[in-house]
Amino acid sequence: MSGVGKGIATSSIALLLQSRGFKISPIKIDPYLNVDAGTMNPTEHGEVFVLKSGLETDQDMGSYERFLGRDLNSENYMTGGAVYKSVIDRERALGYGGKCVEPVPHIPEEVIRRIVAAGTKDKSDITIVEVGGTLGEYQSVMFIEAARSLKIANPDDVLFVLVSYLPVPGKLGEMKTKPTQYAVRTMNSYGVQPDIIIARGEVAIDAKRKEKIASSSGVRIEQVISAPDVDSIYDVPLNFEADNLATIVMKLLKLKAKKPVDLAPWKGFVKKVQNTKSEVRIGIVGKYFSSGDFILADSYLSVIEALKYAAYHAGKKPIIDWLSADEFEGGRANVKKLDAYDGIIVPGGFGERGIEGKLRVIEYVRTHKIPYLGLCYGMQLMVVEYARNMLGLKGATTAEIDPKAKYRVIDIMPGQKQKLVEGDIGGSMRLGAYPAYLKEGTVARAAYKAEMVHERHRHRYEVNPEYVASLEKAGLVFSGISPDEKLMEIAELPKSKHPFFLGTQAHPEFTARPLTSHPLFDAFIKAASKKK
Ligand code: GLN
Repeated sequence: MSGVGKGIATSSIALLLQSRGFKISPIKIDPYLNVDAGTMNPTEHGEVFVLKSGLETDQDMGSYERFLGRDLNSENYMTGGAVYKSVIDRERALGYGGKCVEPVPHIPEEVIRRIVAAGTKDKSDITIVEVGGTLGEYQSVMFIEAARSLKIANPDDVLFVLVSYLPVPGKLGEMKTKPTQYAVRTMNSYGVQPDIIIARGEVAIDAKRKEKIASSSGVRIEQVISAPDVDSIYDVPLNFEADNLATIVMKLLKLKAKKPVDLAPWKGFVKKVQNTKSEVRIGIVGKYFSSGDFILADSYLSVIEALKYAAYHAGKKPIIDWLSADEFEGGRANVKKLDAYDGIIVPGGFGERGIEGKLRVIEYVRTHKIPYLGLCYGMQLMVVEYARNMLGLKGATTAEIDPKAKYRVIDIMPGQKQKLVEGDIGGSMRLGAYPAYLKEGTVARAAYKAEMVHERHRHRYEVNPEYVASLEKAGLVFSGISPDEKLMEIAELPKSKHPFFLGTQAHPEFTARPLTSHPLFDAFIKAASKKK
């Protein structure tokens, strides 16, 4: 079922196999009919993870990239909507040569074509496909059918892993295997037999229940893998390794390791997570809070991860708090609360709600010298705050909130306006990796230690070029600009004026990884660690 940990299970299997020298291509399938994840509210489906190519995908793609430590291609992600759309577009182009086009076989055929294309592009030894959602849902049927026919055509080269949840009902206090038995039966009804069962639960599955699942499901007992809740998701690959999961996969696929397993770098990182004591306290000011902590953490997943890596890299344990932007609005707002933090982040966002609160936070951290990192919207609002309070432009704002405002210091990008008029919304923002040139002698340049950087983007609005000169005159430095010098990519205050006050139009959080933390987050955490 959704949220049970399939993404981390997939990422972990991928990592263990990659650590044995295999080239791995992980694929995420989201069965829903959105063509990509870009049109979904983060509180509905978690963060939208943008690939280097610009494709807007599911947060699991972020986990794969972080665990494997590399960028993935657009081919590694598909939704039900994208698959159906290709089939229908092909039909419109007479691509089926006059045949009746039917869900089966044409949808599964397209799914398989895409799986093969992803593996081929990656030149992978092993392709790992995660089917999202819950077994038994209507929308997943076509994907399971694709998996079934792949196995029929390639019996020795395909294996199935079922990630199943074993509840421990409060009153009973013992783990129940029945739901897993039913899940296997559901799988069987589609013509698929699991080879490996990952038993997710609050606690580790015991020998008796392993045996029960094995005998009722026709899976060998050593192929039932225990996956209890853990303090950190980074423990999961090591737990799987202890249960010989990768060895079982290799045996079933009749593959030999390409090199002796090397998990030393990963273990080094896990050790830091377990042993770091000295704390750094960071507040994230956002608005996607409505559905409780679980969803909240999901909405800003990559930001949180990026913070963790930078903190551990600096020998600090990150304490991350959620601050709802609305609590800093109106007369009751307690901005002094921000003093308790070593650093504040305003992450990406859209729309009006919480804006005034965020602006107040930014003003406070600017004037009280609390380290600040603005990501995308957080950079745009930093510019708005500066224009209001340092340039004296009363009511300065972003055109996103008021397209007719007098001082639109953040304006819509040329080319984006027409898209909004035409209702061309999905996948039409400025998306994916773009280069930026970094000015010498700036905080950004010192952090990146490079003259040219590439970062992923997802926005429609930009710093209005008409205000750049006056903002600079008032002391704001645009330290990162697009090579054609049209787009302001990074804004900052010089070190002499503020310990760290920097915003980037990009989303550097998407390329932060456990073993290679991101230079901007590193610089931010370094400044935060120095705060008294
Ligand atoms: N809403 C802003 C824009 O579209 C910022 C987007 C973001 O933070 N990802 O430009």
